[in-house]
Amino acid sequence: MPQASANLYDLLASRFPADRSRPCFLLSDGGEISYGALEAGAAQVAGRLVAEGVQAGDRVALQADKSAEAIMIYLGVLKAGAVFLPLNSAYTPSEVDYFLQDAEPKVFVTDPPAWIAEAAAFAPLETSVPRAGGDLASLIYTSGTTGRSKGAILSHGNLAENALALHSAWGFTSDDVLLHALPIFHVHGLFVALHCALLSGCPMVWLPKFADAEVLAGLDRATVMMGVPTFYTRLLTNPGFTREKADGVRLFISGSAPLLPSTFAEFEARIGQRILERYGMSEAVIITTNPLRGERIAGSVGYPLPGVELRIGGGEETGVIQIRGPSVFSGYWRMPEKTAEEFTADGFFITGDVGRQDPDGRVWISGRAKDLIISGGYNVYPKEVELVLDELPGVVESAIIGVPHRDFGEGVVAVVMGQGDEAAIIAEARRQLAAYKAPKRVVFVDDLPRNAMGKVQKNLLRERYERLFED
Ligand code: AMP
Repeated sequence: MPQASANLYDLLASRFPADRSRPCFLLSDGGEISYGALEAGAAQVAGRLVAEGVQAGDRVALQADKSAEAIMIYLGVLKAGAVFLPLNSAYTPSEVDYFLQDAEPKVFVTDPPAWIAEAAAFAPLETSVPRAGGDLASLIYTSGTTGRSKGAILSHGNLAENALALHSAWGFTSDDVLLHALPIFHVHGLFVALHCALLSGCPMVWLPKFADAEVLAGLDRATVMMGVPTFYTRLLTNPGFTREKADGVRLFISGSAPLLPSTFAEFEARIGQRILERYGMSEAVIITTNPLRGERIAGSVGYPLPGVELRIGGGEETGVIQIRGPSVFSGYWRMPEKTAEEFTADGFFITGDVGRQDPDGRVWISGRAKDLIISGGYNVYPKEVELVLDELPGVVESAIIGVPHRDFGEGVVAVVMGQGDEAAIIAEARRQLAAYKAPKRVVFVDDLPRNAMGKVQKNLLRERYERLFED
């Protein structure tokens, strides 16, 4: 008996609204693109790919600005049984070269509307190419801050299981309208947000990027917003972001970087709602989430999704988080040794994030293992120090890093966005924390360097201040 196909495209399309004239994309210029048009576009894309000889498992790369047509390319690639490789639109040609050489895509699309227009010359593919749950659906290069960027291989089953779990955990229905202002070259915008909307057959307020005015206008129509923490900090600086504005929104979700407790609190005070924070990564999509109904706590990323096994390695209360479950990837593209290193013998993926778990299962993250500082032989968890500094007057946000120090191996440095007095900050940190955790130096900056997902790039800060203790 042939197995029913587990092609992710078929799962998503099975949830499109029966009335295909209903909108999928609500555009800023007032235009709309229907589910029917999305479906036809995907079939057109798949038709051209198959006609041009793309076979199941072949990679198709996309580097383009965000557009509905880019999503047609994504879905058409799935439908054709090929593997979707999204590339950050900010990558330079020499950066792109690396990915093209590593992934060896058969097709590289850079102008989705033009590519789809040319696809009209081919017969659309009506029936998806059958795929098994374990077959590759997407190759996502992780933003890896050191060494070669690694391609996480995600299967149709990985993505389907996660999408279904999130759709149910966050209570999506066809009455929702999702505000989508995230980039689509990253799991957050491409899988987490998009799949929740497609599985609900609901429309998305489709914004090319985050811009305050457009987001504020979009909130009038939206019921759910997904964002990175910087979206929320930026909204909070805008006086137009009010309780009335957010009236129709039932859920604000944050992830991809830690949400500061101060942002959570300020948001609740202003809007009267608690942001729901969740935790994920390219290698597993979403791992934990705060509850839809139940307590959302500042600084905690909530509970593992159903089916996800999570444990803390190392035998201490705080250690590196390990996970196993249906959405966890099977390894890094063409890197068997690296893959073997990052899984335990019993099949848990070693995430590289340090955290702890309460007896009831709630998870707290204290940072990346590689950001751990060892100063004078003592472990300093940056998050613990950042939480103290972030409460001090004048400090908007702090980033704690370790840089080479002759006596201590690494010296703790606070890079502070904001203003203040170095000696006063150090004194206050020493009052609240063991002395070895307190920064030895504080430097003030106007802005912390962040990547496209709002993550503070501590590797850049470490480079910038690497000679701070040299004289
Ligand atoms: P990426 O693979 O680019 O999505 O990055 C994944 C990493 O982002 C994780 O391993 C975490 O270090 C970080 N991350 C994602 N969500 C959160 C969160 N809610 N709190 C803290 N860190 C997070």
